Amino acid sequence: MIKEARNKLNNVFGYEDFRPLQEEVITQVLDKEDALVIMPTGGGKSLCYQIPALLFDGLTIVVSPLISLMKDQVEQLQQYDIPAIFLNSTLSPDEYQRNVDRVRNGEIKMLYLAPETLMMDKTRKLLATQNVDLFTIDEAHCISEWGHDFRPDYRELTEIRKDFPNATCLALTATATPRVREDIEDILKLDNSETFLASFDRKNLFLKVADKEDPLEQTLDFLYTRKKQSGIIYCFSRKQVEELYVELKKEGHSVKPYHAGLSKKLRNRNQEMFIRDDIQIIVATIAFGMGIDKPNVRFVMHYDLPKNIESYYQQIGRAGRDGLRADCLVLYSRSDKQKIQYFINQKEGTEKKVAEKHLKDMLKFMETDECRRVPLMGYFGETYKKDNCGMCDNCLSIDAEVEDLTVHAQKFLSCAVRTGEQYDAYYIADILRGSTKEQVLENGHDELPTYNIGNEWAKEQWILLARMLVNQEYLDRNESHGPLSLTDQARAVLDGKENVFGALDRSDTVVGDQAMER
Ligand code: ADP
Ligand code: ZN
Repeated sequence: MIKEARNKLNNVFGYEDFRPLQEEVITQVLDKEDALVIMPTGGGKSLCYQIPALLFDGLTIVVSPLISLMKDQVEQLQQYDIPAIFLNSTLSPDEYQRNVDRVRNGEIKMLYLAPETLMMDKTRKLLATQNVDLFTIDEAHCISEWGHDFRPDYRELTEIRKDFPNATCLALTATATPRVREDIEDILKLDNSETFLASFDRKNLFLKVADKEDPLEQTLDFLYTRKKQSGIIYCFSRKQVEELYVELKKEGHSVKPYHAGLSKKLRNRNQEMFIRDDIQIIVATIAFGMGIDKPNVRFVMHYDLPKNIESYYQQIGRAGRDGLRADCLVLYSRSDKQKIQYFINQKEGTEKKVAEKHLKDMLKFMETDECRRVPLMGYFGETYKKDNCGMCDNCLSIDAEVEDLTVHAQKFLSCAVRTGEQYDAYYIADILRGSTKEQVLENGHDELPTYNIGNEWAKEQWILLARMLVNQEYLDRNESHGPLSLTDQARAVLDGKENVFGALDRSDTVVGDQAMER
């Protein structure tokens, strides 16, 4: 049988070889054993039922909640000359009837349905006349309240499954925590089934979380070294999308917005422009990205904290589809966390409990000192075994040497004090490096004892130090680019009572020339 499956793979679909787990799943299905398949998006779930569908005598039913994806798949299959159709509310009565007739006449190999269509009496009566070999449930996580996308309709599938005693049941999803997995198995009664779990590790994605301090400046810094790269920036709200879009536009970036508040026409146009590389960046809410298969997305940035790991994973999953390195950056702040908490507090019962658990898991990822892949893949029930992935901020900072930076910190802090704690990091770095800029000379700051005592470091290094001193709470900054003032802890450093340790973090924002110019 598997030989014939391979034959279909080569000759119908035109692929050379199976992807990981496809062959195993197909073998299981052809043996008429139930299976639960958990494979990340883009992993190749569809072939797991499309190939058996071609080999079975009877009908294959595919339940899917996504009408747009249903349509895409059916059109694709029809191009391969596979008799596949769908039944859902988007069809005209005539088309609907024609499709029903084709099923009744046994002309069809694959029938795609939304769950609510499947539950209708007339559909059940129609299917009772057919020999159904395979009952496929796509997006099977929708069955569980513990998933991120619960659909009460999916619960009815338990009953409907009984209509097809000869059919093998194949449930597929891109995201299922161990808890959701148990729910799927219980609810669909997949007692003797096998679970196929593909790895969720996307090795070419560099994962980073940064404290959100001055998000606009951080975004501009991030984009500065990615001038020609294609990327997505996700924001929490439509309003935030619009604001950031305007700012980036002002800075000369090639960018368009995307959110549900825009007309469908405009949304489609912006999406098309992004896919065709007519624009470089799309600033979007979570409404953007479903079904998008653009290979060269080089970065996905989260301007705001994502709601849960599933959506985060799905969103970063749109980067680096070509297998080349791509960068994923989240800006994380406590106030974002409170914003999400606020929405959670309006919920009740299980829904609230579930949302709380999702937030907690997300925060675990944000706040870990370990490799980011440990909590990320742990969430999907996978144990990450490598000590150092080499592709996340935490693993890199283990490599970066933590140095004693006390002397440099003292120079910087002392210069900030001597200029009255009224200046930003760029100006202080200028003084330390003996700049002859007009402003420095006019202010008489070339007379200071701290003038020109720091030219052993490039300006970039001083800026990174300043950022680190803010992070470690030696310096306070009330507004973006605002003056830096010393904390009590900083005075202890100046008095020689405390040493400053750290690694100058260059992995995210290599502060480029843009910063130098300020
Ligand atoms: P999923 O449903 O898991 O997100 P799809 O089934 O849509 O993934 O497959 C993702 C892409 O990978 C599709 O373009 C599909 O044609 C392609 N694909 C799937 N299996 C193979 C394979 N064995 N060889 C090459 N390409 C494949
Ligand atoms: Zn790591």
